[in-house]
Amino acid sequence: MKRYSAFAIAREAFRQHSGWTRAWGQAEPKPRYDVIIVGAGGHGLATAYYLGKNFGITNVAVLEKGWLGGGNTGRNTTIIRSNYLQDPSAAIYEKARSLYEGLSQDLNYNVMFSPRGVMMLAQTQHEIRGYQRTVHANNLQGVTTEWISPARVKELCPIMNIDGPRYPVLGALWQARGGTARHDAVAWGYARACADMGMDIIQQCEVTGVTTEAGKVTGVNTTRGDIKCGKLGMVVAGHASVLAQKAGFQLPIESVALQALVSEPIKPCMDVVVMANTVHGYMSQSDKGEMVIGGGTDGYNNYTQRGSFHHIEETVRALVETFPIVGRLKMLRQWGGIVDVTGDRSPILSKTPVEGIFVNCGWGTGGFKAIPGSGWAMAELMAKGASPLTEEFSMNRFRHGKFIDESVAAGVAH
Ligand SMILES: Cc1cc2nc3c(=O)[nH]c(=O)nc-3n(C[C@H](O)[C@H](O)[C@H](O)COP(=O)(O)OP(=O)(O)OC[C@H]3O[C@@H](n4cnc5c(N)ncnc54)[C@H](O)[C@@H]3O)c2cc1C
Repeated sequence: MKRYSAFAIAREAFRQHSGWTRAWGQAEPKPRYDVIIVGAGGHGLATAYYLGKNFGITNVAVLEKGWLGGGNTGRNTTIIRSNYLQDPSAAIYEKARSLYEGLSQDLNYNVMFSPRGVMMLAQTQHEIRGYQRTVHANNLQGVTTEWISPARVKELCPIMNIDGPRYPVLGALWQARGGTARHDAVAWGYARACADMGMDIIQQCEVTGVTTEAGKVTGVNTTRGDIKCGKLGMVVAGHASVLAQKAGFQLPIESVALQALVSEPIKPCMDVVVMANTVHGYMSQSDKGEMVIGGGTDGYNNYTQRGSFHHIEETVRALVETFPIVGRLKMLRQWGGIVDVTGDRSPILSKTPVEGIFVNCGWGTGGFKAIPGSGWAMAELMAKGASPLTEEFSMNRFRHGKFIDESVAAGVAH
């Protein structure tokens, strides 16, 4: 792989940029791999990357039915934070956040991580209690967050109306080292690093079936032929239950559409991420100047990557109340993604009833922030059969009633 650097850019400038090579090649499926990962979203690619980097397992294929990063990884609003309530969640999300800090250097690819600070507004007494509890929990977990006053909120985000008629701002949970990253770049950076280790990333290759023998996985059927494997990782977000069914087991997942929208670009006016969960909307400003706006999930299960109209209306109404300047903006685009939601709003990283099949799903509305930590932990689970970071996230917790209840910290979209 050609290293990206200021020196390389200067060198290429002198030869009309003729020396750049493709970031990853167009691979043809081989008959067999040690490991197949289904899904070239951030979590699948990160799993493959850490399998190679941490465990030297490089005979790996990542199969993608569409295009790389075209699922939720390329559709999210890019918020990164680790201020979760329960210990297992704080551990994996904080691992991810800390890996994000050095990810550009590690991958030699600029993922544009911007630790600009994330605030979650408290607009009811109930939220004050909830967020203050989270701050105390975070401090015990070693995750740095703080409770800030309405005056500090206004100082950090002057365009906000903190005296709203319905829900004035009563304070906020603030994580200064939270922020955003460029979502496509995260997928592209991992893909390039995987290809560099000799892994095959095969796009336009849908997995249509899973083959097993005596309760053990032997391979997959795909639209580009059958491929054998020693281990199989299912990392397909909103389609996790569909794929699990092909392997003969069920997952406690509901798939729902979550949507976002983006405004016309404007001059820099907001350098933090704000989430307002009571009125239900959240916003940050992209490097191009667009206001990136996220809303809620549809109230019914579906697989359309669109989302319903009433949610856009609700989200914009919430934002106009919190940020009156939004009322003057034109919206450029709206889109949706299919997110995979579990009953306790926590992910599943787990072995399955079929030997050799591992599943990583259930990140719901908030898995972008988890990509590096999830890939790190999933790779360890697949390579060694266990990982301290995934122990509590087994799918058996739904059998035993040992939930990791994150409905306060994660039961909202972000
Ligand atoms: C509108 C929106 C806003 C969001 N905002 C945030 C946010 O601000 N912060 C945050 O942390 N999270 C956010 N999320 C959630 C986050 O995007 C997801 O949790 C995360 O991207 C999931 O990544 P993934 O790699 O698991 O899934 P995906 O990126 O969806 O990748 C799964 C891939 O599997 C492929 N696939 C499916 N079935 C098959 C098959 N049979 N064969 C081959 N390939 C298959 C799909 O095509 C897809 O590319 C948001 C999501 C949405 C939709």
